[in-house]
Amino acid sequence: MLPTIKSSTNHLSLSNIFLVFPLFLITACLPIKSQTTIITGETMGTTYTIKYVSENTISKTAIDELLVQINQSVSTYMPESIISKINQAAPEHCKEIDIDIFFTENFELSKAIFEETDGYFNPALMPLVNYWGFGYGDKNRHTIDSNEVNRLLLLTNFYDFEYHQTHLTKKYKAQQVDFSAIAKGYGVDQIAAWLNAHHIDHYLIEIGGELRAKGKNAANEYWRIGIDQPQKNLSQRTLKAIVPIKNQSVATSGNYRNYRKLGTKEYGHIINPKTGFPEEKEIISATILAASCAVADAYATACMVMGFDKAKRLIENNTDLMAYFIYKNKQGLIATYQSDDLELIEID
Ligand code: ADP
Ligand code: MG
Repeated sequence: MLPTIKSSTNHLSLSNIFLVFPLFLITACLPIKSQTTIITGETMGTTYTIKYVSENTISKTAIDELLVQINQSVSTYMPESIISKINQAAPEHCKEIDIDIFFTENFELSKAIFEETDGYFNPALMPLVNYWGFGYGDKNRHTIDSNEVNRLLLLTNFYDFEYHQTHLTKKYKAQQVDFSAIAKGYGVDQIAAWLNAHHIDHYLIEIGGELRAKGKNAANEYWRIGIDQPQKNLSQRTLKAIVPIKNQSVATSGNYRNYRKLGTKEYGHIINPKTGFPEEKEIISATILAASCAVADAYATACMVMGFDKAKRLIENNTDLMAYFIYKNKQGLIATYQSDDLELIEID
């Protein structure tokens, strides 16, 4: 059984799907004479795909080993991972659990984004993620007790976790960290670093819909990805937009394919850290472009719970980020927003 980070009975969320449209144009200067090579596999409860154009070849085994190492550090689905040990430990035993570079980088980046998003991105939400049935815990809850939600909310103060170079400490035993909203992107960045080190300069990497590209495809065009129309039913998938990606990363977040029904109500998998409840704000699908895929991944999740006005302000004030939002405007109509510099072809 492969390690998983994201629990979902429905792993095929919007962001798990990407389309690449190689343009079969005969161009004068192909980057290299080789064709596209494709490596696929499974990781983090979803699939990964690497497409690259190079005369060098890379081994799937090496990529799988790298991904297994990352999972052994940050997968909440592996009981023996570093994160699971910390999550299960009493505070006084946390110092006995050594953390590694993968854990440290996920933690440090998460902390920076927690602060930049005014706490809307919060990796300390694990007790609530489990309560709502989107984590490794019980998925069969049928009723919600708001007193219990409020009690669990008290455990989600991210500042109760302290980084000490070799280990992480926490205040209460029931406190748990969760890097699910950043780890897929982080895995993509790690693969990119590995490919760079192995002199592969033209690639498109994807884990569960989070992507990073460098160079060009075999037709000497920038890699292109498709953004889905937000629809629950995968068999009716249609594209909303196409984006050429130029040495950057793209992550899309949406609640409409990873949700649960409790009674008559449907709840998405992204939780508002201010209320403890999964919250449907105006944004239906948030696509973020950034240099790092981990950064894009985390901000995409944060934008979903921030609401349109706050998310737009956040993007406009951060020159490292670009966004494409599909949202419900004040009249209740579906509208889109895109950053000024974003090159994107809208369909319809
Ligand atoms: P999506 O691809 O839809 O953004 P991700 O897998 O990136 O989904 O992130 C969703 C996961 O992040 C949830 O399943 C949960 O584990 C965790 N999560 C939920 N709400 C938050 C939040 N506000 N901040 C950080 N992590 C969250
Ligand atoms: Mg995410």
